[in-house]
Amino acid sequence: MSTASAMSAIGSAHAALPQRVLVVENSRAYTSILREAIEQQIELPVEVAATLADAARLLDTKDDWFLVLTGMVLADGDRDQILDFFTSRRLPTIVVSGVYDEELRQRALQQQIIDYVLKSTPDSLDYLVWLVRRLERNRRIGALVVDDSLSSRSFIASLLQAQGYQVAHVADGSSALRTVEADPGIRLCIVDQEMPMMDGIELTRRLRQLRARDRMAVIGVSGSTDPNLIPRFLKSGANDFLRKPFSREEFFCRVSQNIDQLELIGTLQDLATRDFLTGLPNRRNFLEHSERLLAESAQDPITVAMIDIDHFKHVNDNYGHEAGDQALRAMAQVLHAHTRPSDYSGRFGGEEFCMLMRGLDRHAALAHLETLRAAVQAIELDIDGRPLRFTISVGACQRDAQFPNLHKLLGEADRHLYLAKAGGRNQVRGLEEAT
Ligand code: GH3
Ligand code: MG
Ligand code: MG
Ligand code: MG
Repeated sequence: MSTASAMSAIGSAHAALPQRVLVVENSRAYTSILREAIEQQIELPVEVAATLADAARLLDTKDDWFLVLTGMVLADGDRDQILDFFTSRRLPTIVVSGVYDEELRQRALQQQIIDYVLKSTPDSLDYLVWLVRRLERNRRIGALVVDDSLSSRSFIASLLQAQGYQVAHVADGSSALRTVEADPGIRLCIVDQEMPMMDGIELTRRLRQLRARDRMAVIGVSGSTDPNLIPRFLKSGANDFLRKPFSREEFFCRVSQNIDQLELIGTLQDLATRDFLTGLPNRRNFLEHSERLLAESAQDPITVAMIDIDHFKHVNDNYGHEAGDQALRAMAQVLHAHTRPSDYSGRFGGEEFCMLMRGLDRHAALAHLETLRAAVQAIELDIDGRPLRFTISVGACQRDAQFPNLHKLLGEADRHLYLAKAGGRNQVRGLEEAT
């Protein structure tokens, strides 16, 4: 992502982030400790491989891979083969090594390995858990790099990308202000001091008028040795300062510290549960909350509906991606307005939404979804003078003996959604009396 408008995709991009962690290590004792720590403290699924062959088999048979933690002593590969194996597959990788080896550390860090961790130090397990959690969460955090030098901002952007952030970069202060204003998902801004038109300190001052210190971290960077620069940056509202050139590790530590800080204050909380673009609960949050609602209301009728905008690709193609985003926000507003206090709705991903309704029988649920469908059809947006309208298809399913849990309900609702599409779109399927 390199332009300001690309940032608006932040909201949709994290709908279904990969979850699976692969631990590759020949020591059984260590893998079981690490696996337990990651599964219990971060709640990510972990798979374990003892050799590269095992790893290859797992990687090919499952998908959804988020991260690899690999040891350097395996039966079927030396350290170079191990590094090559994971970097050639472009998997985010952390090296966990039993012995300190400066040459290996240097090589690992050059090869886009995220970090090199010594497993023998007493707190390495805590560090790994912290690191995996940080990387997992970074994926929902937008970062903006502002630097007039293309090489410098590409470099910083690549460092942030390696740490999982959703990164945009711009060349000047006024683009930065526009980007931050348009995108509440940006929680980290790296600001170069030496820029024409508006310098970093001035930009920081203005960024602060848009977003407070506890909602967005601003880190100033400069190659200048002027001793007044750091206090001036900090007094203008920067959270931190880094002098160029800095190492990858120094950069990572500083950035993480500042993001940890925001998290501690609690202002990143919404990122884990809300979709940036629409403000609706995201997929994970919808699923978790729905599970609770299902368990709570074991006797009530439950209806699950999958909602998908029709021919949304055409909206983007004919009106532009920005207009598409506007349509998604309008859709979300209407959906929100049709979500009763007993019910729950969310953005499942892309142009797909979902709703769980309680206490409505088939007939009433169908009537409610018909009202929603008609309300969406009535939306008319003005895109530079051109009217934009769109419709939705809805597939629904009521809980019964055949579809007793969320998984089954969603699967069946999805099947009806498909039928609604095949049947001509702009319709609700799955609750007709005869099904
Ligand atoms: P169908 O009626 O069969 O659902 O057709 P469709 O075009 O809606 O479905 P398809 O799945 O082919 O296309 C969905 C499009 O939604 C493709 C993707 O570019 C767009 N999209 C997904 N997320 C976003 C987003 O956050 N913003 C915008 N503007 N577009 C998005
Ligand atoms: Mg510069
Ligand atoms: Mg779709
Ligand atoms: Mg669609």
